[in-house]
Amino acid sequence: MRWAILSDIHANLEAFEAVLEDLEKEEPIGKVFLGDIVGYGANPNECLDLLRNKADLCVKGNHDAGAIGLTDLNDFNDDAKTAISWTSKMVQKEHKAFLMSLPIIGRKEDFTFCHATPHEPEMWYYILNFRDAIKSFHSFKTPLCFVGHSHTPSIIERNETGEATQILSMDFTLNPSSQYIINVGSIGQPRDRNPKAAYGIYDSETKAFKLKRVPYLIDTASDKIKSAGLPPSLAIRLYFGE
Ligand code: ZN
Repeated sequence: MRWAILSDIHANLEAFEAVLEDLEKEEPIGKVFLGDIVGYGANPNECLDLLRNKADLCVKGNHDAGAIGLTDLNDFNDDAKTAISWTSKMVQKEHKAFLMSLPIIGRKEDFTFCHATPHEPEMWYYILNFRDAIKSFHSFKTPLCFVGHSHTPSIIERNETGEATQILSMDFTLNPSSQYIINVGSIGQPRDRNPKAAYGIYDSETKAFKLKRVPYLIDTASDKIKSAGLPPSLAIRLYFGE
């Protein structure tokens, strides 16, 4: 079964639409969303409309939680805080009820998925080094866990001796005796210095994973952020993928 794994749309409608178009070629059996549908971008309602139409499975991200008052805004930087307050005012009531209804962690076939970390997912920790990764590896039972949150794609492998390493190829077949944490990057605000939207395709039969990059109309998304009165830095960073 081929799955599309999508994360961190961040209300960027142009990036989201470009990814959905690219997905038509991939024909996955289902689409799994790892949260942060809103926050930073100018089209939260439009992205929620689309997502609710397209998602087979979806979990909550920290910006989604922030927009419905479930997380302390002091945990966010100033630009993020401004964007979350704006988002909270803009998002329609029924979309807020949908965000509220989302689980924080999920499991399907041979994979677990969540926004931040599989250990204490509601704490919104980041996996920044192998120590963080090892903590996470102890907390899920499947061979694989997909995460988002850092907006930076990465594959971390724990082999049978318990040692963690980073896999550098983003087109990779999983080793059945190892366990993996795969970050699929971000659709709406990539931060790995590649401005193209990122998402993953995983085949649970062949165990093949690949990361795809999709160009989109950055000018349009960026101009909308400025016209909405959101912090200009959120518009500029899209061009640099940071
Ligand atoms: Zn995010």
